Amino acid sequence: MLELRLVCEHCGRALPPNSTDARVCSFECTFCAECVERVLANVCPNCGGGFERRPVRPTKLLAKYPPRADLVRQAVDLAKFAPLKEAQRSIPPHLR
Ligand SMILES: [Zn+2]
Ligand SMILES: [Zn+2]
Repeated sequence: MLELRLVCEHCGRALPPNSTDARVCSFECTFCAECVERVLANVCPNCGGGFERRPVRPTKLLAKYPPRADLVRQAVDLAKFAPLKEAQRSIPPHLR
């Protein structure tokens, strides 16, 4: 089951289960659309993969299948991330 994380890992912006701004990589690393575009260049700082829009979980199922309770928040170390970003940003995610 897809893990719904409630904030952008980098900037901390709220990303509730019905957010259309949430982006996830295949490992469910979760960032807001603005960080993915402006800061990360569609490169996940944790795994190097690309991001897709996170699907919205229907409200009626949230009680049975709730979001993750704790917040995953770890601002990206941009200097450390730079080499990975530069190596991957020009390669489409499906070819990485
Ligand atoms: Zn963000
Ligand atoms: Zn990732």
